[in-house]
Amino acid sequence: MNREVDTLLARRLEQVQERLAAAARRAGRDPSSVTLVAVTKTRRTEEIVAALRLGLVHCGENRVEEAVRKIPQVQASLTAADRQPVWHMVGHLQRRKVRHAVTSFHWIHSVDRLAVAREISKRCVAAQTELPALLEVNVTGEAQKYGFPVAGGVANRPAVEALCRQIDQIAELPGLIIRGLMTMAPFVAEAEEARPAFRMLRELRDELGRRFPAVRWDCLSMGMTNDFEVAVEEGATMVRIGTAIFGPRTGP
Ligand SMILES: *Cc1c(COP(=O)(O)O)cnc(C)c1O
Repeated sequence: MNREVDTLLARRLEQVQERLAAAARRAGRDPSSVTLVAVTKTRRTEEIVAALRLGLVHCGENRVEEAVRKIPQVQASLTAADRQPVWHMVGHLQRRKVRHAVTSFHWIHSVDRLAVAREISKRCVAAQTELPALLEVNVTGEAQKYGFPVAGGVANRPAVEALCRQIDQIAELPGLIIRGLMTMAPFVAEAEEARPAFRMLRELRDELGRRFPAVRWDCLSMGMTNDFEVAVEEGATMVRIGTAIFGPRTGP
């Protein structure tokens, strides 16, 4: 990787970390309570390795095929002196790809239906592993969006009850450890317009914490390049950032 690109990456990463820390402090939060997940989809192995050597630890991918191909390449490029990355699956998960996801990733952010939770559980048990997982929730009601539908958040009592009935079952599944919620904010012109969605996710998490006290609801995965500061102000513990770190994506 040439030095200019490396320097640019270092500068972008530093800026993101500074903005993240500033947003946390504005909200009276400890910056270390927010995990930066660098979304590495479409990025080449060398870029990912360079980012890891600049101190990144958490990487997010959104497609299983791409991850299954790239993760071993990245791992093979690392030396004993490098820190081991933690891989997060952040994209929609098809049931037939769960088997590969379970052996490639350390976290799953996108459990969006009961069938996929069951499959993750089954595959984790078979692989004798456990995976922390987040339930993806669609709080905006956008039709094209994945996630358990809870349009409007806690105010939508019937949807909350329906979600709770599913969580009753998911919480019992071996191998899958519910750790919190994830959402994709609406695509809006101003980051501020995404705030209600983030707030709804946090309030829903608080409600689920009361309803399921045995589950550790400590993670809120929300916020991307365009809106991560607002997400942190609203309580995000994981932000998923691609473009602000690696620059615009050229591929799909
Ligand atoms: C691509 C992607 C991101 C990161 O998007 P940027 O706008 O590049 O920061 C975050 N979350 C998911 C699920 C994604 O697919």
